Amino acid sequence: MIDLHTHSNASDGTVSPEALVALAARKGLSALALTDHDTVAGVPVALAQGRALGVEVVPGIELTTEWDGSHVLHILGYFLRHEDPALGERLAWLKAKRRERAGKIVARLSELGLGVTFEQLETIAGDAAMGRPHVARALVEAGAVRTIDDAFRRYLSHGRPGFVKRETVTTEEGIALLKAAGAITVLAHPGTYRLKARQLARLVEQLKAMGLEGLEVYWSGHGAAQVESYGALAQRLGLVVTGGSDFHGDAKPGIELGRGRADSIPIPDSVLAALRERQSVKTGH
Ligand code: AMP
Ligand code: ZN
Ligand code: FE
Ligand code: FE
Repeated sequence: MIDLHTHSNASDGTVSPEALVALAARKGLSALALTDHDTVAGVPVALAQGRALGVEVVPGIELTTEWDGSHVLHILGYFLRHEDPALGERLAWLKAKRRERAGKIVARLSELGLGVTFEQLETIAGDAAMGRPHVARALVEAGAVRTIDDAFRRYLSHGRPGFVKRETVTTEEGIALLKAAGAITVLAHPGTYRLKARQLARLVEQLKAMGLEGLEVYWSGHGAAQVESYGALAQRLGLVVTGGSDFHGDAKPGIELGRGRADSIPIPDSVLAALRERQSVKTGH
């Protein structure tokens, strides 16, 4: 069993990078990619823990990017040089923007009379790259909502009163940034962008022209028909196929490491070998 899409508390997951790799070892996973939102802060610890426990840890990231001014696309990067200085500089900027946005969300929510403060948010997020799930947890703790899901539905999702847009990189810049740091770039969870098959195919073709190399075919929320059609698209365009659960610990209940949801299509182990092969072709060893 492998899992190439996971989040730790370096971003909006609830499990530390050490504990995440330990959980992978307990569950018998042979490999795990840490793909936190806009940060590689958890990667060094995850790599060390992987060496200690005999789990292959793939350094990764999930970058939030802006497409066409109004759409958000998540781009996964694998095998990146996580200490790349240019990458680090841009990620520091993104982290600051995330913090700024979280502050604005809290201000909105206070205007609505909900008792959440930025201090509470800081306690929950620590030094993590702040995201809406942290705000959602603050709302649950304040007793304003029952669950994280309620928090999104009532306040935090696009179009809800607590939604605030965030400054981020464009998709083109994001792909270039990751590639410059040696990453293989992959479009995450194509099933979430609300596109018809033909629109998605056109989008992926455009992304490929920008240097995209893979498509996340296996993902917790993709059904059998989606896995089949995204797999066919990847094959037609010569893109590498990846897959992962999008595990977030308790921030996304119902998603199990390595497995996804109870009805998710299992991620074949062969996916990692293909990804590794793609990487060795690039680096020449
Ligand atoms: P942000 O990066 O701050 O825009 O927050 C996006 C994160 O919120 C992603 O990890 C999503 O998976 C997560 N998210 C979106 N909707 C929900 C939900 N209903 N329940 C839990 N997490 C969610
Ligand atoms: Zn997340
Ligand atoms: Fe995502
Ligand atoms: Fe994710």
